[in-house]
Amino acid sequence: MPHALRPPAFTPLPLGAVRPLGWLHNQLRLQADSLSGHLDEFWPDIKESRWFGGEQEGWERAPYWLDGVIPLAYLLDDERLKAKVARHVDYILAHQDEDGWLGPRQSFIHATEQPAFDIWALFLALKMLVQVHDATGDERIPGAVERCLRLIDRHIDRQPLFNWGQFRWFEALIPLYWLYERTGEAWLADLAIKLHAQGFNWAEFFERWPITEPTPMGRWNFMGHVVNNAMAIKAHPLWWRLSGDERDRRAVYDMIAKLDRYHGMATGVFTGDECLAGVDPSQGTELCAVVEYMYSLEWLLSVLGDPAFGDRLERITFNALPATFSPDMWSHQYDQQVNQIECSVRRRNWNTNDDDSNIFGLEPNYGCCTANLSQGWPKFAAHLWMAADDGLAAVAYAPSEVATTIRGQTVRVRLETDYPFSDTLHFTVQPGSALKFPLLLRIPLWAAGAHVTVNGGATQPALPGKFHRIEREWREGDTVLLTLPMRPVVHPRPRQTVAVSRGPLLYALKIGEEWRRIHADQPQRELPHGDWEIYPTTPWNYALAIDRAHPERSLTFEQRPMTGLPFAPDRAPVAAHVKGKRVPGWQEASGSAPMWPGGPATSEEPPADLTLIPYGCTNLRLAEFPLLE
Ligand SMILES: [Zn+2]
Repeated sequence: MPHALRPPAFTPLPLGAVRPLGWLHNQLRLQADSLSGHLDEFWPDIKESRWFGGEQEGWERAPYWLDGVIPLAYLLDDERLKAKVARHVDYILAHQDEDGWLGPRQSFIHATEQPAFDIWALFLALKMLVQVHDATGDERIPGAVERCLRLIDRHIDRQPLFNWGQFRWFEALIPLYWLYERTGEAWLADLAIKLHAQGFNWAEFFERWPITEPTPMGRWNFMGHVVNNAMAIKAHPLWWRLSGDERDRRAVYDMIAKLDRYHGMATGVFTGDECLAGVDPSQGTELCAVVEYMYSLEWLLSVLGDPAFGDRLERITFNALPATFSPDMWSHQYDQQVNQIECSVRRRNWNTNDDDSNIFGLEPNYGCCTANLSQGWPKFAAHLWMAADDGLAAVAYAPSEVATTIRGQTVRVRLETDYPFSDTLHFTVQPGSALKFPLLLRIPLWAAGAHVTVNGGATQPALPGKFHRIEREWREGDTVLLTLPMRPVVHPRPRQTVAVSRGPLLYALKIGEEWRRIHADQPQRELPHGDWEIYPTTPWNYALAIDRAHPERSLTFEQRPMTGLPFAPDRAPVAAHVKGKRVPGWQEASGSAPMWPGGPATSEEPPADLTLIPYGCTNLRLAEFPLLE
């Protein structure tokens, strides 16, 4: 009996339906003109990848890169990038094996000492191909996807899922459902059931949850692997579409709550360097985990339609994502620290990562992030808008334009805004001719007093933590003004420290930076893609004077000119001013700020005027602060 897939709350739009505008467009352009857009020209793991007939890495890096560069190319409608994508995809499709295998066969020595083929990279390749089909309608792709899924179906009968494929089994549901929704063939549902049965049961593991402490030194493991956890957040809601089991819908809330409680950071992500690492803000979070958490949240918004996932998505995207790149996006970190006072090659308190993990470079620690970083901004942009109830939902906000078809009629909506650096969002609805449909606007939970005005008319209040629905007959040029008031919020952090946010932005102490180039003699480090250490030129060891009950009395915010590319310390479009005092006893240890010992800070130092800027604009910073007594 065929299984019907439960419909998602919102349906993602095909690649190309959403176009970035304003600062978001500039950010994607910057990405295309830096590492992501040029990696295949000089980095052996892509340039000479076994995926493209070379002799270098032949597992996940080429499909990771394509998985991000494909949406980048089509969102920007960039001919040069689209040609690159087409050339590489043509090669992969032309070299699909007769049995359906895509790309090189990567073998691992299994526990039985028998070589076995890990099929994780096939899941990645399939997700990447589906995006190409959505953007281009390439007729070769449904057949190639079907042949590969039939191969997986036969393969796991004899070689059950193990390692990465076992812990990331749910990623295969994305291309599998894509094909199932087109063909309705029962074997695809059966394959999904087999993958679920062989895959790691994340929800059951989390119910009992033994990882409440930082992973002990050197105890690398799949269950506590930070990227696996960031990916697994979407596992059960995706599976719910087939299982229909309410527990699968709910499992995600338990997973996020436990990750926040035991490993959460003020940025909305959790630590893992490279396994879950506790709540010390000097522990690291791997860049792959940042972009995979974002991608998981994009699916959660689609399947469950809960606006809270939009709040979390924005918090990670506007803070953790830009912070872990150099402002020019030519270099990135493997691990970012929330309290990051020096980026240098030094032994730090990482669980298993190498000494170079927090420098800004080409491939610090390990090259997975170098390839996988490509998906962050483009997939965020592609998922800002989704189809909902024969209308449109804005699930996350950034300047953009969406074009979709509603009851056979092409409708465009344009969002002009400097959000998240401004609290006003101007929408222009362009239905061509009059058309009735609902427009759903996400009202973040923090936006008390949010309000909406249609065509300059009466102001309507909008409830935080909900989608505000405007259903009317839209006419060409109708406007909606959404105001999301932003107030400072002080968040409790461990050991009586605090973090400061306003709207979706987290604020961090601006620390003076001295960039020092390293590894200049190493291969592939010719500028502009060099390796860099960053040393502080101003003090960092401050405690803040904040009235927790009335933070608006302690913090004053200054709006600065909005620049085209806002994520750099000297281009921050908004700054906060606050009083603080240095705490001389709190001293750097091995290049990091030691975890605050607890309690309020005492200091005999004179009061200082401190400047906080958005976390995403910083490279060095303090973002979890002690408070003065
Ligand atoms: Zn990585």
